[in-house]
Amino acid sequence: MLNIFKKFIKYFGRNVENDKDINYYLDDDYNIKSYSESIKIAVVYGIVGALWILLSDELLSRIVPNIETFKKLATYKGWMYVVITTILIYSLVLKRLLLFEKAIKKIFSNYEELNASNEELIALQEELKEQFDELEISRNALMISEQRYELAVEGADCGIWDWDVEKQIYYFSEKWKNYLGYEENEINNTFHAFINLIHSSEKEQVIKKLNKYILSQIGSYEDVFRMKCKDGSYKWILSKGKAIWNVEGKVIRVAGSHTDISQQKLIENKLNSLAYFDILTKLPNRVSFEIKVNDLINKKCNTSSKFALIYMDIDNFKNINDTLGHASGDLFLKDISNILKGNIKSPDFVARLSGDEFALIFENVEDRMEVTNRVQDLLKHLRRHWVIDKQEFFISFSLGIAMYPEHGDNLAMLLRNADIAMYFVKKDLKDNYSFYFDEMQEKNLKQIKTISDLYHAIDNKEFILYYQPIIDLKDGKLVGVEALIRWIHPTKGMIPPIEFIPLAEETGLIYDICKWVFNTALMQKISWEQQGYKHIKMSINISGKRITHEKFLEDINQCVLGAGVRCDEIQLEVTETAVIQDLEVSMKILKEIKDMGMKIALDDFGTGYSSLTYIQKLPIDVVKLDRDFIKGISNKGQDNLIIQSIIKLVHDLNLEIVAEGIETKEQELFLKQSNCDYGQGYLFSKPITKEEVEKLFLNNIKEL
Ligand code: C2E
Ligand code: CA
Ligand code: CA
Repeated sequence: MLNIFKKFIKYFGRNVENDKDINYYLDDDYNIKSYSESIKIAVVYGIVGALWILLSDELLSRIVPNIETFKKLATYKGWMYVVITTILIYSLVLKRLLLFEKAIKKIFSNYEELNASNEELIALQEELKEQFDELEISRNALMISEQRYELAVEGADCGIWDWDVEKQIYYFSEKWKNYLGYEENEINNTFHAFINLIHSSEKEQVIKKLNKYILSQIGSYEDVFRMKCKDGSYKWILSKGKAIWNVEGKVIRVAGSHTDISQQKLIENKLNSLAYFDILTKLPNRVSFEIKVNDLINKKCNTSSKFALIYMDIDNFKNINDTLGHASGDLFLKDISNILKGNIKSPDFVARLSGDEFALIFENVEDRMEVTNRVQDLLKHLRRHWVIDKQEFFISFSLGIAMYPEHGDNLAMLLRNADIAMYFVKKDLKDNYSFYFDEMQEKNLKQIKTISDLYHAIDNKEFILYYQPIIDLKDGKLVGVEALIRWIHPTKGMIPPIEFIPLAEETGLIYDICKWVFNTALMQKISWEQQGYKHIKMSINISGKRITHEKFLEDINQCVLGAGVRCDEIQLEVTETAVIQDLEVSMKILKEIKDMGMKIALDDFGTGYSSLTYIQKLPIDVVKLDRDFIKGISNKGQDNLIIQSIIKLVHDLNLEIVAEGIETKEQELFLKQSNCDYGQGYLFSKPITKEEVEKLFLNNIKEL
């Protein structure tokens, strides 16, 4: 019985004991058969109960005949039934509940695992999202950067280049090719094609510089060169770039930009030429000259080689400017510069220092003889008749030469000494050249001393006036005098005006001197009038600097009015050169002088440049023919003809003419025959003191 029960339990509880993996129940295809399982349990319970009722009573009635015992046992049997079914139900329910418990546990643990996985998944998802966002940002940035690059390449005025050194590809932005005038396919993307576009004189430099940069492995690259455009012109390019090197230091690529700096270069060149070249003549200017000399001195200081520094000045250039106008003056300067350029070849050097001043360098000269020969050669080209504005001129030049190192071992000294030599030539020789010598310096010092003495000359009453008679050539009568100043220096004796008038003009002392001359001459005229020598014309020299002085007219007016002198017997002598220094002002002043009733004489006629023009223009009464003309009078000289034509021309203009510097009878005769009005010169009298003039008056052939 117990065995049967055990088997029974075993059969129904097999699932519990044999306990299949719980996963079996959790398989997808496992079906919990709730109804059949319940029916099974109910059927088992029903069969066991039915068998028990049917068999246990029958069996018990056979075994126990006694009713009383039977009853007792039936009660026990009933209890037994309850016990067996209780155990049966317990085992069945327990099995099922254990199963559920396991399942629930399993589900629960699975659920937790699932939950954890889910969280992991969420984290993963977030991570992915972040990565995606980052990717999106990078993608956008890349897109913007690409757009920017494209816009930059397209929009920029500069060209973009990229040189893949390994593959030898040299990329040019299309826009840049177009900028140079080429179509995209006209220039290969090779380094060779790039180099081919560079100006031949810069190719080598560009390659060298690029190589140097690549080898340096640091910093960035920069170069300036010219690139050829399709039309054959060149553009100045500023090329900038940067390279990338691999770990072994080998360059991988270089990329950068090309910018057109042609305009900038043009301005730079302009500025450069303005800084170092003279605009008018295109010759190097003073700055270039100083650089050149300093370089030469630096180069030569350790050698025994010499060079010559030559200062060249055009004599009376101002007259050309004033006579013909500045435009013609400029033209003339250009002509001179071209001759200089044509005859002075590198390494020799020529520069324009200022207005009419030029400076020359003759390099590697052996001795003075060589310099002299070269200067003479040059002068052959310069000393000639020039024709400007259909007018013919002879222009002279003054050149001063300083030798390095003999006359100075530095720029300042060489320039100063060449300048002194040039001034020496200008004052004493003209149209010539001279090497510097120390005495020139002494002469300079002497001049300085003279100037300082000149300052005290008026106060010390060291000036006196001499008078040179002016004779009427028709009848030999003395009609007037020219007042000529003399300086009686306390130690040096009489100094002729030629030695101090230019210094007085330079220092401005001329104003006071002229005023003194004018006053003294006027007083003398009045004095002679008072002595009965009436109608003696007084001719007074007026310096050019004086005429244009603002107080000139006022001074003259005061003098004349104060003296109560007859104005028509006062004659002011002015030179052409003096008048044309400031033509407009001079003309205005001369007209006013004429309005005051005075006469005006054009002095030194024939030494100027276009005198005939001036005679007609200026408000003059008298022309004084220069001594140089008179000197030329000979039996059948060409000058005779010229003098005669001038006399005729002057008369045609209703002017009078005075011949200066008559020294011989022939000259007097010729002039007389040529209808010259008046004469002046040693033949008649040298300039003399007032007392001597008065003696002349007394002895004068005729009453004046
Ligand atoms: P200038 O006005 O042409 O004066 C004539 C000069 O020629 C005078 O020289 C006179 O002595 C000189 N002379 C006259 N006849 C003869 C001659 O037959 N043969 C030679 N060889 N010479 C003759 P001086 O007095 O030495 O004057 C020289 C210059 O100095 C003058 O030339 C004039 O330009 C200037 N000067 C003289 N006095 C004055 C003055 O008071 N004021 C100004 N501003 N300049 C003056
Ligand atoms: Ca004179
Ligand atoms: Ca004169």
